[in-house]
Formats: sequence, structure tokens, C-alpha cells
Amino acid sequence: MPEVRQLLAGAATRLRDRAEAAILLAHALGKSRSWLLAHSDDAVDPTDAAAFAALVERRAAGEPVAYLTGHRGFWTLELEVTPATLIPRAETELLVERALAMLPRQGAPRVADLGTGSGAIALAIARECPHARLLATDASAAALAVARRNAAANRVPNVVFIESDWFAALEGECFDLVVSNPPYIAADDPHLAQGDLRFEPASALASGPDGLDDIRRIIVGARAHLVEGGWLLFEHGWDQGGAARELLEAAGYEEVFTAQDLEQRDRISGGRRPSNRP
Ligand code: GLN
Repeated sequence: MPEVRQLLAGAATRLRDRAEAAILLAHALGKSRSWLLAHSDDAVDPTDAAAFAALVERRAAGEPVAYLTGHRGFWTLELEVTPATLIPRAETELLVERALAMLPRQGAPRVADLGTGSGAIALAIARECPHARLLATDASAAALAVARRNAAANRVPNVVFIESDWFAALEGECFDLVVSNPPYIAADDPHLAQGDLRFEPASALASGPDGLDDIRRIIVGARAHLVEGGWLLFEHGWDQGGAARELLEAAGYEEVFTAQDLEQRDRISGGRRPSNRP
């Protein structure tokens, strides 16, 4: 029977990535990565070894590690992810940080997360702000099912999930804050045919010829769903900050801004619905 050490070495060579090999072996054995280190001489059951070999081959063919293990960490949450959801990215935590900074401290602010996917953004905000009431939408019923399971598994009670194409099902609802990580990649961007993106839902990634179709809809739609002084905040591509600010200003938002991620690239923009003047 093969030993843990041998399996790990073989997969590390095949994948040219020792960390990924260890994540997949730990997953196949139902153990932690530290367990692997302490048990490198243990013999592995041939059924487990075969399951591991299959995972390694799928990874070698390009499938994202998070889809193979079925989960990914985001903020302080452990989230289930499936091919129905985008895999949460570390840079999206910037959106959560900014959203938390903008939430009214008093009362029970209402927050909408549009296109929630795995639920990452809504659940992170809801966990940090137990007094906030979150409404999270997605156009995909399959994604919403994953998001609902993530809310239950992480014991986050203050999020309600609704199937909706942006604001379509939110008639009459008003929020203090609207956040979104919408699709924002140009439809002909060659990156869509590379790496993890090949396996992620196209509907969560691509958005028309300039990648801004959904951002336009959200900017225009949010005006009728924000309270006076309420904030809209969304993620976008590194080269879309200028366009995002122009769209926000053209739609009448105030205090329009763009913020950079840890790699100093434009990553989120936002603006505030003006107060109604008499
Ligand atoms: N940040 C993702 C990427 O470029 C895209 C996510 C999105 O379109 N919302 O890989």
C-alpha cells in the first residue's frame, strides 16, 4: 500500500505545487494538512489512494481546487462552493471592509447584496453586524441553494435570500446600503478561457462588450432602492474605476469614490444617493 509521503511527493511533482497536493490529499483522506505531516509514514487505503489520484488528475486538467474540495475560506467564514457559484476572492474582502465602515452604527440598517453567489459578502457583513438586516439575491436558484446552506452552516441568522435578477424582485424595498460583486469582465476577454475562470459560471463573470452592462443596471436601479444618503458600493475590474465613477456621477450619485485593493489596483467604487431637496 502507498504511504502518505509517496502520494504527496508524486502529486506535488504532477501538479508542480506541493501545497495544492497536500490540500487535495487531506481532502481525499478526510484529515487536516497537519495530520498529513504527523502521519507521513502511514499506509493509505487503496480506495482512498484511487480517489486522490482522480482528484489530482482533475486538478491537472485545470479544475479549481475549491471546486474539488467543495469549500473556500472567506473573511471568517468557511464556505461551500460549487460550480454554480463564483469562488470567493481575497480581494473582495475590501468590499466587506468598506461596507462595514459605511453601515450606520445605530438601529437595524438594511443591506442588500446583489448577485450573492456563495453568499460570501452578505454573510461576512451579517456576521460582523448582527444588528443589520441583510437581503441577498441571485438570479441563479442553484447558487441561492448554496448560499442558504452557507448561512445555516455558519449560523448566520440575519440574511434573507431571494431569487432576483438585480432589482427585479425587490419592488418597494429600500436599503441603507447596496453592495455587489457583479460580473464585470468583457465578453471577449481572453482571461475567460484561462485558469479557474474556465470552470466558473460565465453568468457570474462576463458582462457585455465592455464588462459594464450589469454595473450600469445596478447603478441606475439602485437609485430607487436606496434611502436618502444611502450608499451603493460595488466591485469592478482594475481598469474600470474611471468608467464606474463616470456612470455614478451621470446617475446623480454624490461623494463618488474608487478604492484600491492590497495590490494598489482600482477594485471598488461607490457613491451616495443625494437627499431629496425641497
Ligand atoms: N475578480 C474576478 C476575476 O477577475 C472576477 C469576478 C467578477 O466578475 N465579479 O477573476
